[in-house]
Amino acid sequence: MAEKRDYYEVLGVARGATLDEIKKAYRKLALKYHPDHNKGNTEAETKFKEATEAYEVLRDEQKRKLYDQFGHAGVSGAASGGGFGQGAYSDFSDIFGSGSFEDIFENLFSGGGFGFGGRGGRSGNSVRRGADLRYNLEISLEDVFHGKEIKIEIPREEHCETCNGTGSSDGKLDTCTTCHGSGQVRRSSGFFSIATTCSTCGGSGQVIRNACKSCSGSGLVHRKKTIAVRIPPGIEAGTRLKVTGEGEAGPNGGPSGDLYVVVQIRRHEKYEREGSDLGVSEEIPVTVAMIGGEVTIETIDKSKVKLKIPAGTQPGSLFRIRGKGLPYMGGGGRTGDLIVQAKIVIPKTLSNKAKNLVKDLETELEAGSGIFSRFR
Ligand SMILES: [Zn+2]
Ligand SMILES: [Zn+2]
Repeated sequence: MAEKRDYYEVLGVARGATLDEIKKAYRKLALKYHPDHNKGNTEAETKFKEATEAYEVLRDEQKRKLYDQFGHAGVSGAASGGGFGQGAYSDFSDIFGSGSFEDIFENLFSGGGFGFGGRGGRSGNSVRRGADLRYNLEISLEDVFHGKEIKIEIPREEHCETCNGTGSSDGKLDTCTTCHGSGQVRRSSGFFSIATTCSTCGGSGQVIRNACKSCSGSGLVHRKKTIAVRIPPGIEAGTRLKVTGEGEAGPNGGPSGDLYVVVQIRRHEKYEREGSDLGVSEEIPVTVAMIGGEVTIETIDKSKVKLKIPAGTQPGSLFRIRGKGLPYMGGGGRTGDLIVQAKIVIPKTLSNKAKNLVKDLETELEAGSGIFSRFR
């Protein structure tokens, strides 16, 4: 993928641009490149996504601050505190709810803006699904072998308990002044004239009279939640575990998004992994390599297995111990193998007696094959 363009450049605004200017710039681009108007045009789609991503960051005071300070790293998945965040948008519904062209107007441009509560984009009191969350989880190879339940802490938006997620302090409603209770507004912009659901009230025709003080009327509060995630034995690196309903709460009592836990596996100091097989380098005394014998190998679960070393084993020789690797994920008890690579160890110092024995051995070998005489 090409390097990311600067968000301000994408929207064509100055670094000091006001929210209003950012909104206007995005609107222009969204109208031009929206997929509904550019069917099959992948370049337009890319432009639309790029603009949307830029807008998502710059419209949010906090994200914009992070971006100004750290650039893309400050607002991309891994870097946004705690190792997660909204990754690349897979489709437009992530941003616009149902993703239709009209929703852009509904969510962004009608009724003069962004609803109450000061949270960008949470328009009116319309009920929407919460955002999905991504969490990067690093586990050990031992965890892969045994499987594990891991508790992770996720900062996220939850329903405000004071108002039960409604955003209202007293449950009283007023007739929406934007649509005068009809729930519909007609907007015109250049040659567009579109009837859309009123964003101030989300189409209900009514708005909350007194905003809840705990959540400023958004119905959402920021909290940390501990969630237990089951790691199945044999899990592959990069696996995405979906935890349904554990994403962010939906605005105004809407359903929660999902949580995606992306599993990465830490490098092991001793074992290498390839699929369900494990590889290990094992020291074998030169004498054992010469005349054969047995060595004890430690497996990933710290149990010991004996391995027969045949006479004449060469440095780097490979031995396969069946069933001592990693379990197959969902493989019903099937397990990979442990591959042992012989690392022949030659003593660095010898006693005089040992030296004499090696000399005798040399003489014997010389008599047997004669190959040592060639090095003289
Ligand atoms: Zn509240
Ligand atoms: Zn309304």
